[in-house]
Amino acid sequence: MIAQQRVSLFELTAEQRAIGELARDFARDEIAPHIERWDREHTFPRELYTKLNAVGLMGMLVPEAYGGVQTGYLSYALAIEEVAKVDAGTAVTLSVHSMICGAIAALGSAAQKDAWLAKVGSEDCIAGFALTEPDAGSDAAAIRGRAARDGDGYVLNGRKQWCTNGGYAGVVMAMFRTGGAGSKGISAFLVDPATPGVAVEKVTRKLGIHTSDTVDLAFADARIPAQALLGHEGAGLSAALGALTAGRIGIAAQAVGILAACLDASVKFAKERSAFGRPIGAFEGIAFKIARMATDLEAARLLVYRAAALADAGRAFAVDASKAKLFASTAARVHASEAVQIHGGYGYTTEFPVERYYRDAKITEIYEGTSEIQQLIIARSLLGRLGD
Ligand SMILES: Cc1cc2nc3c(=O)[nH]c(=O)nc-3n(C[C@H](O)[C@H](O)[C@H](O)COP(=O)(O)OP(=O)(O)OC[C@H]3O[C@@H](n4cnc5c(N)ncnc54)[C@H](O)[C@@H]3O)c2cc1C
Repeated sequence: MIAQQRVSLFELTAEQRAIGELARDFARDEIAPHIERWDREHTFPRELYTKLNAVGLMGMLVPEAYGGVQTGYLSYALAIEEVAKVDAGTAVTLSVHSMICGAIAALGSAAQKDAWLAKVGSEDCIAGFALTEPDAGSDAAAIRGRAARDGDGYVLNGRKQWCTNGGYAGVVMAMFRTGGAGSKGISAFLVDPATPGVAVEKVTRKLGIHTSDTVDLAFADARIPAQALLGHEGAGLSAALGALTAGRIGIAAQAVGILAACLDASVKFAKERSAFGRPIGAFEGIAFKIARMATDLEAARLLVYRAAALADAGRAFAVDASKAKLFASTAARVHASEAVQIHGGYGYTTEFPVERYYRDAKITEIYEGTSEIQQLIIARSLLGRLGD
């Protein structure tokens, strides 16, 4: 029923519907049967990404000329939502990977596209993103990792924290300082993590998204060729923020998927569980929670579709992506908590998936720009930079 509403309200094309269905079937067949164990064991199933690649889902933002399927952002959002309904960890893997594909397609030189796009689009090469450092997250202009020019290349030193996909990545878009302090001193590079001097130091154990690979990368005199520079020196922060702007559509879609899963689980449980001689869904206190959940789900989904449709039309979408991420992630966190509440004590146990949705939902308010940063972006679009 939810899928039908989606079609009639937003006029999805046959291709967009097909991609959503492909992702839904993939998640049902390849992820759902294993997700409880993968979540429990903090497993990052590498072979799953080979399968995602085989059905074309890793090449959604890669041009066809490089072996991708170039579906555009709306199809990408639909696919991420369907995967996140089953597993938010796999959804963020896909989202971050696609975000880097889009950045290379937009900013890469002809040689970089030849070298990397075909690999990330169709050859089972996962992409990661490394901006955050131990002392620089929201304040990305404060990064200290340095890329020193040396002959025909650069030498990288520093530490990148919480790099999604980093343990499996064939390429990481990594930001380092090539100049002085501030945003203009930062450059972006396409780095193969197998480069000597790059160490995958830690697999972080996390509250949720256990199937997502999160690592720290330590760079100690890692030498990379000059051709690894993405764009030009000094343009790295704007490249990173541009990638994150598009990535927010993916994270918002991830939150919508978690929310949709919460709704499905809550409706089912409210019909099946009885108290005081009636199904708990017959009590207004439960029914109204479900009504709010369904309403916020539709609102979040429409905000995501709107941001994605603007991106596909080549129009400005940064503020819309921030609104979509802010609203969808807050709704996912709030309603995942309500879904646990509806399930009572069972909701607090691993017997029901809402416990996992509750843990997974929180991160959508933090990465790719916290909710506070999204509000800054939205407020500045209305007020300008007052007081700066
Ligand atoms: C599981 C996971 C995966 C991640 N994946 C990646 C990845 O792939 N690549 C990558 O580069 N990073 C990644 N990150 C890092 C993530 O993007 C950062 O954690 C996030 O941007 C916040 O930065 P911080 O943790 O340093 O918090 P801080 O920036 O220190 O913020 C702390 C608190 O202060 C608030 N705050 C900060 N500045 C302001 C302000 N100006 N106004 C109001 N409030 C403010 C924040 O909103 C937050 O509530 C990941 C993190 C996690 C946990």
